[in-house]
Parts: sequence; C-alpha cells; structure tokens
Amino acid sequence: LTVTDLVQASYDQIDRVEDKLKSFISLNKEAALEKAKQLDQETNETNNPLFGIPIGLKDNIVTKGIKTTGASKMLSNFDDPLYDATVVEKLNEANTVMIGKLNMDEFAMGSSTENSAFSTTHNPWNIDYVPGGSSGGSAAAVAGREVFFSLGSDTGGSIRGPSSYCGVVGLKPTYGLVSRFGVIAFASSLDQVGTITKTVEDNAHLLQAIAGHDPMDQTTVKVEIPDYQATLKDGVKGMKIAVPKEYLAEGISDEVRQSVMDALKVYEDLGATWEEVSLPHSKYAVPTYYIISSGEASANLARFDGIRYGHRSEKATNMIDLFKKSRSEAFGPEVKRRIMFGTLTQSAGYYEDYYKKAQQARRLIKADFDKIFEEYDVVMGPTTPTTAFKIGEKIEDALTMYANDLLTIPVNLAGVPAISIPSGYSKDTGLPFGLQIIGKHFDEATVFRAAYAFE
Ligand code: GLN
Repeated sequence: LTVTDLVQASYDQIDRVEDKLKSFISLNKEAALEKAKQLDQETNETNNPLFGIPIGLKDNIVTKGIKTTGASKMLSNFDDPLYDATVVEKLNEANTVMIGKLNMDEFAMGSSTENSAFSTTHNPWNIDYVPGGSSGGSAAAVAGREVFFSLGSDTGGSIRGPSSYCGVVGLKPTYGLVSRFGVIAFASSLDQVGTITKTVEDNAHLLQAIAGHDPMDQTTVKVEIPDYQATLKDGVKGMKIAVPKEYLAEGISDEVRQSVMDALKVYEDLGATWEEVSLPHSKYAVPTYYIISSGEASANLARFDGIRYGHRSEKATNMIDLFKKSRSEAFGPEVKRRIMFGTLTQSAGYYEDYYKKAQQARRLIKADFDKIFEEYDVVMGPTTPTTAFKIGEKIEDALTMYANDLLTIPVNLAGVPAISIPSGYSKDTGLPFGLQIIGKHFDEATVFRAAYAFE
C-alpha cells in the first residue's frame, strides 16, 4: 500500500459521499496527490504512525497558500494565507497529507454546523440529522471515511459534541497543551485545538504529534509530554471514577442516561469503581460561558473591519460607513448576536453585573473539578443530553441550541481535558451515544487509558 493509494482512496470516498455529507469547504486534491507521490519516492519511515495519513482540517486553522474561511462570508476570499498554523507545521513534519478544509459553524459559533455561510453538513449515520458543531465537518468526514483523521477546535464542546453525534473519538486537550497560533480566535481563554479519529489509539498518536510548547503562543505551557502509547493499554483496575449527579439529571434523555449506566457497568467489570459526586456550580456554566466567550469574541472579531483583510463593502461612502456595511454584509446572524451581546456585557455599567460575575462563577466551576480530582482519577458522564437532532429543529431558537452544550462547557471553563468516545446506539433511531471522560489538567494519558479500556 502506497501513500498515493491512501490519498486516492480518500478522494474516491469523497466522490462517493460528499454530495450528501457536505463535510468540506474546499479540497486540496492536486497538492495532496503531489505530496503523496513525493512521500512514496523520497521517504521511508517505518516507525512514524502518521506517515502518509490523509487528514482534514477545520477551516479555522490557517494553511499557507490554501483558502481559510472560518466558514464566514467575511473570509470567503482569504485565498492565500501567508503562513501555516503551528499545528499544521507539526502535521507537515509528521508527513501527513492534507486532504481539505472542513465545514464548521461560522467562526466556530454553534452546535450543529447549520451556521456555516456555505452549506450545512449532514450526519453520516442519517443525513436528516445534524452532525453537531461547530466542528461538524471534522467529525462527519472521519465518520464518513472521507479522511482518516481530522483536527477540530473546542471552545465549549465543538469537538466532543460532533464526535458524540457522529460516533467517533474526539478529544479536547488541556488548555495550554496545543498551540493556538494560526487558529482563528473565537474566545481565546477557552479555544483549544483537538483531535478526531475513529479509535482511541489513533487519537493518542495524533495528539502526540501536535502537543507541546510553542514560542508563538504564550499560553502554551512548558510541560513534559508523556508517551501516551506507553500507558494506553494498562487497563483501569483500581481506577476511581466520579459521576456528577448533575450529568444524569433532568434534561438528559432516558436512553442517554441508560447508556452511561451501561458503560459504568463495563468499567466495574474491568476493575474500576465509581461513585456519585456533585458539581454544584455546573448549573451556572452555560450563562457563564456565553458571557465570557461572547465578550472575548467581540474583541477578537473587531479585526474584521473590511480594511486590513476580509470582505469590503462596495456601498460605503465614508470610513465609519465602510466598517458598518462590511461587517453587516459579511457576518451571519449568530456571529452578530454574539458580538452585540459580548460588547454589551463588557461595557461600563454592565461589566460589574455580567463579565465580572461570570469570571467569579468560572473560578467556582473550576474549583468544583479541582476538589473532585483530589479523590478521583477521572469524571464520567454523557457528552450531550440527547443523540443528534434533526436539521432545522433548533436553529430558530438560540437558547435551546446553547443548552445543548451544558455537559461540555464546564470542561472548557475549568481548562481540563476531556474525550468523547462512542458508547452504543439508540434503539429508536440507530444514532450513536457519546461517553465523556474528563481528566486532570495535563493528564491526557489517564483519559486515553480509560477510553481505550472501554473500546
Ligand atoms: N456551541 C458552543 C458555542 O456556540 C461551543 C462552540 C465551540 O466549542 N466552538 O459557542
């Protein structure tokens, strides 16, 4: 099997299913096949698990010379970025092959990939359903076998949610483990790039390649990166699992709750123990998240003014008018909602009541996790309250859509790592369930080990 075979197989599958799935915003076919040919001729790496692997990237990850849009009309003609994101450089060093850029909610704001300016991605298990979001293209492309691996980003659940809905393995690393340099910023204190694969073992290989301190991102931490494979298969005998009662409470569907109970039974059989605990402040997580993330988004998205780069209105008569018209024409409704809300909560007179309170609540949510991790190795629960919902079902109602991420958001606020792994299928719809496994700061090794044991 050559790299060219692998890459060609990816494009063949894309030809078969992409019409229905719409996972991609753009393809990189010519360059990818060229790179494959080159790898086949020049390199012979027998001990690199990522060698020649066809991979897809969420379209908020900047790629040199390859169009990067963030699924926004604002960047629809950002055809020729000048540099690669650090994670892209690392994947290039690992000799993976970049197949294409994947669809997402505009600027990663959403839970269904219906907020893309270009198209809606469909769930490969049933195309009437959403793939989840905002990394919906990244999860659908792996589930639909269009690529082997993909990268997504997760600010409040955008890797774990779609991985749950599409039946794949998705990890949000500890905040500060993976570089954000060259990743279009949404909420800088929460954003983290992560890995989507079919198996836990693959996921650990992929994280190994992209993790680590980056001089270009001062929020990355200088920690020793363990060899994840070394402990992956050590089992869970004696592992102490905490299950927050809030994660099995009202609002979680019966079948999802049952899937978690079934999974915990498997862990008991494997020699682990579990106990019910409480995350008492998790009920504040969704409002806390929307105040903080929208505030940061309003600042981060200020750079899109129609002057330096991005869409420029042709109807403007003066400079202020140019800002207004360019931004009005090019941002979608969800992005505008966040900018306006975020600007409000950070303005004088509102700051004390909203933003400052949210920062305080964030500390309490983190403290809840710190306390549990004094006693337990991992926290487990569902990834999402239900299986995937139908396309169109929630898009008119922003608050219902926001509530969808109530089980993933606390993890971002606390900065800890979490994975979603497939844990069964609905008897009614056949759609997959996701089990969420949350770990201590920088303890991805234990998260992978727990996930691997279940698989
Ligand atoms: N759905 C959440 C939001 O819309 C999370 C998105 C994300 O993680 N990027 O903000």
